Amino acid sequence: MLNLVLFGPPGAGKGTQSQSLIEKYQLVHLSTGDILRSEIANGTELGLEAKKLMDQGLLVPDEVVIGMISNKLDANKDAKGFIFDGFPRTVAQAEALDMLLKSKGTAISGMIALEVNDEELQKRLLLRGKDSGRADDADPEIIKRRIKEYNDKTAPVAGFYKDQDKFYSINGIGNIESIFESICEVIAKF
Ligand code: AMP
Repeated sequence: MLNLVLFGPPGAGKGTQSQSLIEKYQLVHLSTGDILRSEIANGTELGLEAKKLMDQGLLVPDEVVIGMISNKLDANKDAKGFIFDGFPRTVAQAEALDMLLKSKGTAISGMIALEVNDEELQKRLLLRGKDSGRADDADPEIIKRRIKEYNDKTAPVAGFYKDQDKFYSINGIGNIESIFESICEVIAKF
């Protein structure tokens, strides 16, 4: 199985690259942000609770997202592999993911990090906010808080995969196709 963690700060291009990757490798795309937004759209209790945090640019609790991922893994038993996009975002989530995959007889193949500087991220997110309708993309203060959450809680997840020799880093600035090619070159090494 090919189980890829696509990593990087908000606005790094994880969603865009995931679209091309799922087609090429026929993987199931698991974006916790997308799953949470669909819970909000459906007006579920989980969605309403999560929205309060998401609108402030804060992470939702680990047990909530771990539960969502566990359900999705169970619902996709015949998958060729998964792209985890926006998950794991804390070391506790990474540990839980390892255990979930182990219980299914598989493991993470590798983490690919898209490197983009803070200034470029701010620009991209504000631009996305103009037509995505995402409240958390439209306000510079909320964007700053999301980047801070990333630096405080999510960046350490890279170390978790470095310790397992599964960490690969790629320049996330440039044209979308050449970034995609760089990702495919890394996948070829798994
Ligand atoms: P994203 O679409 O990945 O940018 O996620 C949007 C928002 O959803 C984040 O700012 C968090 O509030 C929440 N979220 C998404 N994934 C996670 C996660 N793995 N852990 C905690 N919160 C998350």
